[in-house]
Amino acid sequence: MRFMKCVFWFRRDLRIHDNTALSEASERCEKVFPVLVIDPNIMFREDTSPRRAQFYLEAIKSLRKEIPLTILYGNPVNLIHEFYKNINSDYLFFNRDYGFYASRRDSEICRTVKCLHFKDHVLVERGELPVYRIFTPYYIKWKNVEKERVKPRASGNFIGEGNEPPELFKGFKIPPASEDYALQKLEEFKDDEYPERRSGLSHFFKIGLLSTRTAFHAKVNEEFRRQLCWRDFYYQLYTSDFSLINGIRRKEIWENKEEIFKAWTEGKTGYPIVDAGMRELNVTGLMENKLRLLTSYFLTKVLLIDWRKGMEYFMKNLLDGDFVINLGNWQWIAGVGTDMRPLRKFNIVEQGKRIDPRGEYIKKWVEELRDVEGPLVHEPWKLGKERVIKIGYVTPIADLGSYDEFVRRYKGYMET
Ligand SMILES: Cc1cc2nc3c(=O)[nH]c(=O)nc-3n(C[C@H](O)[C@H](O)[C@H](O)COP(=O)(O)OP(=O)(O)OC[C@H]3O[C@@H](n4cnc5c(N)ncnc54)[C@H](O)[C@@H]3O)c2cc1C
Repeated sequence: MRFMKCVFWFRRDLRIHDNTALSEASERCEKVFPVLVIDPNIMFREDTSPRRAQFYLEAIKSLRKEIPLTILYGNPVNLIHEFYKNINSDYLFFNRDYGFYASRRDSEICRTVKCLHFKDHVLVERGELPVYRIFTPYYIKWKNVEKERVKPRASGNFIGEGNEPPELFKGFKIPPASEDYALQKLEEFKDDEYPERRSGLSHFFKIGLLSTRTAFHAKVNEEFRRQLCWRDFYYQLYTSDFSLINGIRRKEIWENKEEIFKAWTEGKTGYPIVDAGMRELNVTGLMENKLRLLTSYFLTKVLLIDWRKGMEYFMKNLLDGDFVINLGNWQWIAGVGTDMRPLRKFNIVEQGKRIDPRGEYIKKWVEELRDVEGPLVHEPWKLGKERVIKIGYVTPIADLGSYDEFVRRYKGYMET
């Protein structure tokens, strides 16, 4: 059946290619009115990173060059309702978003207007498989679920005001925020070099400048596809049971040591690989997965600081910050999620040497260490306290052996 007028609502899918709901709307409706609502509840939320918000607003600017778009500012529940009524729309089309706030918002809107919504943000959606709490069995099943085809660039009779988004955030150094650039990055990514070289696509996925479907079909590397599965895994898990957000093992085995936490955030712990990772995060909003693992491990299992503080800090700073994925990973590392090995241990120094054998990454971000030669760049405390202070670096703020204290507290909790 064809409709006369429809509203298409852009949210976390700022693209024209392979956009399920947009393609559906353009095929089924004579006229499509694409709309985007800048929601101050999201823009100015405690855990919103201003850098990420700027990236989103820049992406809107690129989008409006590709499609006639009406940009609104305010509460989407009222605005979408009014917009829909004003144009006398037959249906509202959108791609499903699974967060707590988004799900509630969408159900509220769909009580007053007729909605058609579609799977788009994930490859396999909750409900297509039973809910899994452990990754590997989920992955085995996930691999066999047929993934939808990539849709061509949507073309239809689009009508929009073409107005500009407000300049709410500026000044951050961010990568180009456009669909064309995301597609170019996907093309440049050589999956036969994966995982030595990662895709660098997560911030595009986050706001939908690129779909994971397009990436999945474009690349065949099994390990890369497995990472995309992690994303779906966390989505199916947390959206099936919002109570998991608090963690399944919640005992307060952590402490809140403000000064020590501050040193971690600033990359001043005295452990070069941790400090390099945190400094990169602070400057770029990004950090490679292995470094995210080491820095989060260090916070929760060496500094014994609450994983929720780390999670919030990441969310406030990551360009690709995604509540569900960030949460799942922090719980995995802190041992409070559904993972079976909560006491997983890392050797920070050895891992650092493996990730950065020549110390180039460390020297790029921890300038104080640029003249340190050889493997000592990974263990500068071996230079002696005096030299460390002279070059302006810090002596370690904690002993790596604190992990044993973590285990002791953890086991103590399990026994109670
Ligand atoms: C403590 C911690 C917090 C994290 N927070 C986020 C976050 O907020 N947003 C986010 O997108 N990723 C997060 N990750 C996962 C991962 O670090 C990033 O997705 C990855 O570093 C992005 O780089 P890439 O695109 O080059 O990844 P690639 O290695 O090229 O992987 C391809 C894609 O797979 C997905 N992916 C990869 N690793 C994971 C993972 N462990 N869990 C879920 N999906 C994954 C991402 O969408 C990624 O873009 C976090 C990891 C840790 C350990």
